Amino acid sequence: MVTAIFPGSFDPITNGHLDLIERALKMFDKVCVAVLVNASKNPLFSIEERMEMMRTCMTSPRVEVSSFRGLLVDFARDHDAKVLVRGLRAVSDFEYELQMAMMNRELSPELETVFLMPKTVYSYLSSRLVKEVARLGGDVSKLVPEIVVRELAGKYGKIS
Ligand code: ADP
Repeated sequence: MVTAIFPGSFDPITNGHLDLIERALKMFDKVCVAVLVNASKNPLFSIEERMEMMRTCMTSPRVEVSSFRGLLVDFARDHDAKVLVRGLRAVSDFEYELQMAMMNRELSPELETVFLMPKTVYSYLSSRLVKEVARLGGDVSKLVPEIVVRELAGKYGKIS
């Protein structure tokens, strides 16, 4: 039984995140999505909103959605996870992700980081860009699940 954790801000969840979760489910028995409580990043959606959107989108009983604060390696240990999943969209992700992976290995040598690549159409997609487009009234319906389209419209007062 191999449990993988997939940590992130998910502010909000995008189709790129969902693509990665599907890929992880093909490789691991259980995927624990860890939604970061990070007030310093000044998220648009509260931790409750982000978790609720994530839960609504999850159809597999092999996915668990939790929030976390503090060190990821501690969260992994508490959830008996041996694998940490992160996404690589482009070379620009690489340096930061490599640093994080090396630091996590230093803190917890038994935790292995695995990088997954999304479908090409999602390789330019980020939560930040989705928020920007939605804020300006653009259509994000092909980029995020339906519930996120509605929640973004609620935040920005516009229907995309
Ligand atoms: P963080 O603040 O930890 O970067 P994000 O929610 O932005 O949180 O991303 C969480 C993880 O999902 C990261 O590993 C990121 O590389 C990955 N990710 C984000 N968007 C995409 C996407 N479009 N395709 C694949 N992976 C993605």
